[in-house]
Amino acid sequence: MSARTRMPVGLEARQKKGWIGANRYLLLRRTSQLFFLMLFLLGPWFGIWIVQGTLAGSLTLGVLPLTDPFIALQSLVAGHLPATSALVGALIVLGVYAVLGGRVYCSWVCPINPVTDAAHWLHVKLGLSKGWQPKRQTRLWVMATALLVSALAGTVAWELVNPVTMVHRGLVFGMGAAWGMVAAIFVFDLVVSRRGWCGHVCPVGAFYGLLGHKSVVRISAAQRSACDDCMDCYAVCPEQQVISPALKGKPGSSPLILSPDCTNCGRCIDVCAMDVFNFTHRFDDRVDDRPDPLTAPAGRIA
Ligand code: SF4
Ligand code: SF4
Repeated sequence: MSARTRMPVGLEARQKKGWIGANRYLLLRRTSQLFFLMLFLLGPWFGIWIVQGTLAGSLTLGVLPLTDPFIALQSLVAGHLPATSALVGALIVLGVYAVLGGRVYCSWVCPINPVTDAAHWLHVKLGLSKGWQPKRQTRLWVMATALLVSALAGTVAWELVNPVTMVHRGLVFGMGAAWGMVAAIFVFDLVVSRRGWCGHVCPVGAFYGLLGHKSVVRISAAQRSACDDCMDCYAVCPEQQVISPALKGKPGSSPLILSPDCTNCGRCIDVCAMDVFNFTHRFDDRVDDRPDPLTAPAGRIA
């Protein structure tokens, strides 16, 4: 364990890279989340109709249909064949996330992510305990249940309670009950279960995780030999379990984070003062064998 372990999370990264450098991907993600939200709101709020619809299903510039494939799947199992344009829209979204990483949707697009990030920030500030931590597969069971209920009830079941859609519709037509859902998720993550909603419950995240199983864009711990065990990447990662196989793998093992749970949020890159992580593609498994900063003889480390 290094002396840096006792520093506040990300402090050395801020000292080395500056505040913007140590929050680069966080700033980019917030910009992206705001961008997608505003694309949908420009029409109803200001009459500028670039995009019509919501994240559930939309039409961009009157020609490009985009459909949430999880909704399309629920519709199919419910016995309702979506319109051709909706199916095409679902295939386009499937293709994009299959390449970029399914859970890129979670970190870069979903409007619930800033809510759960805020809950986690406060949770850490208050020093609260982890609380209830159901198995990671729980969200897969919630997803399977949503599909089963859709099939039995003949309706798109998860959409009746989906906070993503509720928030999107709420911003257009008035938040009302959507505020209650946002507050419930915030309180759940704050006091019931650390990182609980997105990490353990949300079936949309589970679905997009499956979608990104073989995605091309990946995070690599290519410079893992420079890691000094400060644990900052674990502290900020919303899916901590994905890091170890790449960072602490045996010599010769792949440095790529290949778990579909990784959201490609880039926070591990931001907070690492040793620049261990980088974005790359799944075929790039190069490892930079810099000397271990903890064991290398004095003078070898720049
Ligand atoms: S897990 Fe669900 S709520 Fe969380 S960011 Fe992903 S889609 Fe949004
Ligand atoms: S490994 Fe890095 S990019 Fe992946 S979820 Fe964790 S912090 Fe985000």
